[in-house]
Amino acid sequence: PRDIASMIERRNRLLGPGYQLFYTDPIELTHAEGVHLYASDGTEYLDAYNNVAQIGHCHPRVVEAVSRQLANLNTNTRYLQEPLLDLAEQLLAHFPPALDRVTLTCTGSEANDLATRIAHHHTGSSGIIVTANAYHGVTSSVAAYSPSLGAGERPGPNVRTIAAPNPARFADEAELIAAVRSDVRRAADDLVRTGHGVSACLIDTVLSSDGVFTHPTGVLRALAEEVRSYGAVMIADEVQAGFGRTGDDWWGFARHGFVPDIVTMGKPMGNGYPVAAVVLRAEVGQGFESAVRYFNTFGGSTAAAAAARAVIGVIEEEDLIERSRLMGASLGDALRDLARDTDLIGAVRGVGMFYGVELSSEGGPVGGARMARKVVDRMRRAGVLISASGPHGNVLKIRPPLTFEQTHVDRLVEALAAGLKAAEP
Ligand code: PMP
Repeated sequence: PRDIASMIERRNRLLGPGYQLFYTDPIELTHAEGVHLYASDGTEYLDAYNNVAQIGHCHPRVVEAVSRQLANLNTNTRYLQEPLLDLAEQLLAHFPPALDRVTLTCTGSEANDLATRIAHHHTGSSGIIVTANAYHGVTSSVAAYSPSLGAGERPGPNVRTIAAPNPARFADEAELIAAVRSDVRRAADDLVRTGHGVSACLIDTVLSSDGVFTHPTGVLRALAEEVRSYGAVMIADEVQAGFGRTGDDWWGFARHGFVPDIVTMGKPMGNGYPVAAVVLRAEVGQGFESAVRYFNTFGGSTAAAAAARAVIGVIEEEDLIERSRLMGASLGDALRDLARDTDLIGAVRGVGMFYGVELSSEGGPVGGARMARKVVDRMRRAGVLISASGPHGNVLKIRPPLTFEQTHVDRLVEALAAGLKAAEP
C-alpha cells in the first residue's frame, strides 16, 4: 500500500502547507477515464467535483489530437500556424456575431487579467465592480478583484463589490433586479466620486465562489444596462459556466438575453490541457491594441489549439449541451426531492450541470459549513467526489462532466442522501 502520510509530508515540505489539498484525508489519484477517477488503492470515484473534465476524463479524441500535434509541431505562437486560426474560427462560430476577436491565453487568470487591461484602455478608467465573494484568478491585478481570497489579498482601491443576487432575500424577481440596479449604482457612483471612474463589471455568469447563484434570467441584462450607463464594459467570466455547462447554450450569458463586451473562458476549454481565451468586440480592443504590444508565448500554442478544437468538436458532435440540459434537469429534480425530505437543505440552486445545495442548520452558516464538510467526506468514502463552496463554505457544489448518465446521477444523489443522513446533528 502507498504511504499517503509521507506523501503529504513531502508535499508540505516541497510545495508548502499553504498549497492546499481539497480533502483533509486525501486520495492519491493515479488515472482517470470518462466520469471516473481512480486512486492508488484501486478505489473508483465518480467525479462531480471539477469542471475541467467537461467532456469526460482523458477523452480519446483530445488525447489523440494533442498527441498527434505534439509529435508533429508545438511551438511559440509567433510563428504562422494554421491550427490557431482554425480554433479562433471554430470558437467564434459559437458566439453572437458582435463578438468577433479572440486572444488565446494559458489560464483563466491570464484571460481575466487581459480582459480588465483591455477595459481600462477602452474606457480610460480603472474602477472594477465584482461580486462580494468573487474569485477571478491569481495574477496580482486579478487577485485584487477576487474578494474571496480574504483579508490577505485585500481588494484594490479601484475595486467595489456588489452582493450576489440571492432570490431568497426578495419577494420576486422585479424586487431583486431593482436591488441589483441600486447596488451597481452605489458601487459605480463611489468609483466615480473617488476618481477611479468605472471601467468594467467582471462577473461570473453563474456565480460560483459566491455560493452557486444562477441569477434569475434578466438580472445580468439589468446589471449590464446600469454598468454601460457609466460608459463601462461588461466582462462575462465563463471559466465556470461556459462550454455548455448551463445546458441551454454554449455560454452562461445567453440565458440573460444580453451580449457581453468581453468574455473570458478557460478550465474546460482544453479538458485538462492548459488553454484559455478572451473573446471580445474588436472595437473594444482597439485602444489596447494600439497602445500595448501583447504577446503570449504559449497562449493557444499548436497543441493547446488542437486540444481546444477537439473539445469543441466533441461538444458539438456528442450533443453535450442537450445532454447537460437533460441530465441537469434530472439531477435538479432529484435534489429538490431530497430537499423536501430533510430540513438540512436550505436551498437548491442550479442550471444545467451546475448545482449548489445550501445546507442550513441551527448553528447558522458556520454549522452549515461543518455539516457540508461531513457530507463531502461521507460522499468521498462512498466513492463520489463533490466540493463545498460559498462565503461560509455551506454550499455543496456539484459540477459533473457533461457526459454523466442517469445511473451516475442516481449514484450521486444516493450518496448525497446517505451523507446528509450521516451528518444529521
Ligand atoms: N475565474 C473563475 C470563475 C474561476 O473559477 C477560476 C479558477 N477557479 C478562474 C477565473 C481562474 O482560472 P485559472 O485557475 O485557470 O487561472
